[in-house]
Amino acid sequence: MDDLLRLDDRLDGDQRLIRDTVRSFVADRVLPHVGDWFEEATFPARELAPELGSLGLLGMHLQGYGCAGTDATSYGVACRELEAGDSGLRSFVSVQGSLAMFPIWRYGSDEQKSEWLPRMSAGEAIGCFGLTEPDHGSDPASMRTYAKRDGSDWVLNGSKMWITNGSVADVAVVWAQTDDGVRGFVVPTDTPGFSAPEIHKKLSLRASVTSSLYFDDVRLPESAVLPGVGGLKGPLSCLSEARFGILWGAVGAARACVEAAVEYAQTRVQFGKPIGAFQLTQEKLAWMYVGLAQAGLTALHLGALKDAGELEARQISFGKMANVRSALDIARQARSILGGNGITLEYPVIRHMNNLESVLTYEGTQEIHTLVLGEALTGLAAYR
Ligand code: FAD
Repeated sequence: MDDLLRLDDRLDGDQRLIRDTVRSFVADRVLPHVGDWFEEATFPARELAPELGSLGLLGMHLQGYGCAGTDATSYGVACRELEAGDSGLRSFVSVQGSLAMFPIWRYGSDEQKSEWLPRMSAGEAIGCFGLTEPDHGSDPASMRTYAKRDGSDWVLNGSKMWITNGSVADVAVVWAQTDDGVRGFVVPTDTPGFSAPEIHKKLSLRASVTSSLYFDDVRLPESAVLPGVGGLKGPLSCLSEARFGILWGAVGAARACVEAAVEYAQTRVQFGKPIGAFQLTQEKLAWMYVGLAQAGLTALHLGALKDAGELEARQISFGKMANVRSALDIARQARSILGGNGITLEYPVIRHMNNLESVLTYEGTQEIHTLVLGEALTGLAAYR
């Protein structure tokens, strides 16, 4: 499909190389199988992780420890291309790089960094990020998972829910209350008392592992705590990194839906002509394309701000909220253009549409980002 506004002309040579490399990885290694993974509710994390690592996609915008050290826009472009394959694939890479590696890289001790980051960037070790709890999602400040001092050790009790990569992870970055407020803990998943059963019966992000985490007197050494951060700003800063990838990723999912709908509209004949020749279909396609291009522009602009070190959390909220909503609207329109074929996994559209329902909810729901923007506009907080 034509890049009508020539948005990718804004990418530099390295960014285009990353775009093309990730696009062909997705075409070769993901698209032929992802419908089956979705149907079977499986994601071959152990198989794909080293391949993603060898492409330099894990923790790619971090410096050192085997990470690729790219700029933020390159990371965004990679997320866009990964999510054009499937939101589950992009979620895997986001969680590994932005939610598990980033806190260790930013707030970890030298020991934690050298123990985990080289293996994680190579895809030899998988990470997860435990913030959400069964009773505390949008309001993580009320979390009940608690780490208590016992001599020089910590003892962790509680549970987390909806944790991407949980059951396949080697290490969990877990956020818990302590007597001194929220702290982050680097928890090897083979520590006694840790368990991570997978959550089944999902109808969205089926090609992604989602788990509960349980901590039953998990004893950790002093060295397990992330020394460089205290309070909710720790997890929130990780979420800002990951949301940046999401606002780019949504553009990829939307593009895949527009492409599928255009191709279908050109070839599906009803009443003696392609359905793309009917004005109602063209109106749908034209607005879908407008939404796609506007989301792409937002991503490029926020990428430039991030590369200049100027990106603010409320701007990320704007991008996550606007781009995911747009992508979901585009997916639903595409689904209607495909008619009955729109509901099968033979085409990518309903897979993206169902996935985007999770993307709308995780990393701050649509409503919470709306409240962030509402506060930015009015100066009045309306969260509680
Ligand atoms: P709630 O917070 O209970 O919200 C329910 C509804 O109420 C929503 O519509 C919400 O917007 C609305 N609401 C809540 N408060 C307000 C308010 N003040 N004003 C208006 N409306 C409000 N979490 C992790 O920690 N790590 C992960 O790896 C992870 N991966 C995930 C993967 C998937 C597939 C999913 C579905 C979730 C994942 N999450 C993860 C959790 C996700 O971040 C939470 O689901 C999300 O933050 C919402 O929390 P909740 O589900 O408890 O909903």
